[in-house]
Amino acid sequence: MGRNGLNAVLNLAGLGHLINNFPPNNLNNQFGFSAVSAIQQALDSMYGPRGGRALAHRAGRATFKHGLKEFGPVLGITDFAFRLFPVQTKLKIGFEVVAGTFNKFSDQRVRVEDDETHILWSIDRCPICWSRKTTVPCCHLAVGLLQEALYWVSGGKSFTVEERDCIACGASSCLIAVDKRPLE
Ligand SMILES: [Zn+2]
Repeated sequence: MGRNGLNAVLNLAGLGHLINNFPPNNLNNQFGFSAVSAIQQALDSMYGPRGGRALAHRAGRATFKHGLKEFGPVLGITDFAFRLFPVQTKLKIGFEVVAGTFNKFSDQRVRVEDDETHILWSIDRCPICWSRKTTVPCCHLAVGLLQEALYWVSGGKSFTVEERDCIACGASSCLIAVDKRPLE
């Protein structure tokens, strides 16, 4: 969105103090959920639901990419041994490791379950829709992050990722379902 777009989004989100003054890259949990969700809300307001969603997907993908550089070596998912597992095993382990990272280093709470056809990613305490009210699920940042995780774990495949329930719509958790079969 460029520097001007970014500044406009931060202003609209009520976060003008962050312009040219980004928060430090550390694990001190000082960047609040209300700031994360205000930025998501501002994307939707400025670019419309479709444009906002597309930008949030890209931001989510970038978040995984950068996060992997910082956390991957510690977590073991960039190890050679991990890469040799079958794809389905890698998906499950990879998701559990990412969920564990959120649970350990942030106030976000995530659970991973699966059934025959889907991996189910439940966010019980969600920064993305924090105190928002929407008519359709709005945690696109998480969808983008999972899409990139899937792309990376599977060696370049794409999967259907869909947010089925969202706390902003009145659900008790945000539920994102990932089809276990990659798209052809
Ligand atoms: Zn949410």
